[in-house]
Amino acid sequence: IINFSPGPSKLPEDVLLQVQRELLDYHGTGISVMEMSHRSPEFMKIVTDAQENIRQLLNIPSDYTILFMAGGGTGQFAAVPLNLLPSTGKAVYLNTGTWSAKAAKEASKYGCVIEIKPDFKSSSNEIQWDHDEDVSYFYYCSNETVHGIELNFIPDTHGIPLVADMSSNILTKDFDITKFALVFAGAQKNIGPAGVTLVIIRNDLLGKQSVHCPSVLNYSVMAKENSLHNTPPCFNLYVMALVFQWISEQGGVKVMEQRSNAKSQMVYEVIDHSSGFYSCPVPASVRSRVNIPFRIQNGNEDLEKQFVDEAKRRNMIQLKGHRSVGGIRASLYNAVTVDEVSLLTAFMKDFMKSKLQ
Ligand code: PLP
Repeated sequence: IINFSPGPSKLPEDVLLQVQRELLDYHGTGISVMEMSHRSPEFMKIVTDAQENIRQLLNIPSDYTILFMAGGGTGQFAAVPLNLLPSTGKAVYLNTGTWSAKAAKEASKYGCVIEIKPDFKSSSNEIQWDHDEDVSYFYYCSNETVHGIELNFIPDTHGIPLVADMSSNILTKDFDITKFALVFAGAQKNIGPAGVTLVIIRNDLLGKQSVHCPSVLNYSVMAKENSLHNTPPCFNLYVMALVFQWISEQGGVKVMEQRSNAKSQMVYEVIDHSSGFYSCPVPASVRSRVNIPFRIQNGNEDLEKQFVDEAKRRNMIQLKGHRSVGGIRASLYNAVTVDEVSLLTAFMKDFMKSKLQ
């Protein structure tokens, strides 16, 4: 089976095999990680190893704290304003699609949200907004999973703390963490099973939370207690640690980035050389490398259904587009291999040929 799911998505086979080997007896303890105290030395080691690994993978300096939280990306839509808004009560949100819009809506419960919409058709990377306004942070989503929009630049926020939701493209691309005040990512695309969320926060932003911030969403509480304020999603955290290890063994984030570029280029090439049989609705400058939405004959739903059904018969699954946009979507996260993408592109060509005969 080749799994092109947008999330929860494919995990590296080596990681799953290791989970299988250790499932009933983790490192000679005679029990599984799911049955182990989160305060045991074995589990604490999983947490510290994961922190060290991600610090190395993303080159995170010591003035940033790494947190593993529960509540998914959606939990962070609330945690970010609850922790960071109080200083001014205002924040800027760049609305690029479903996920940034949801984040803005959640934040507006806690303060004033200034929403801006970029014009991706313009050639400039400059995002227009009144940056003299006193705001607590500037928020954006680096990859909109539903629409397949990925920003290939880091917005210039004129010194305002930058917050990014990197749920769907973290660890697929090297980036400079020092440009960010806070980055978060739900695990279920490139990091591990759903249920654990990676948060990387610059230390000077700790301690600014609202008095109403629940403890489990409070970055200062989580930082003080090394992400073990309450029982964490232990099993998910363990698998996440194995994925970090796997990425290191593969050669790190730069290798993931090369693969990601190669895989996405293969699919876009077929789309762009299909004389309009396939089309991608996203402007070329912001096409995602990890979620590729496309239509067949400008949205012929009958053909699109045939495509998804035929792909399934060839063991390629979860290619249906998001229900809000329709069409097809191929998600090419880190665990999807170049060979698997070759099979998809070969199928795309075959399918087109069979319909044009
Ligand atoms: N942000 C992005 C970019 C996503 O793709 C998703 C979910 O797919 C979320 C946030 C929400 O994550 P969760 O379902 O873990 O709350």
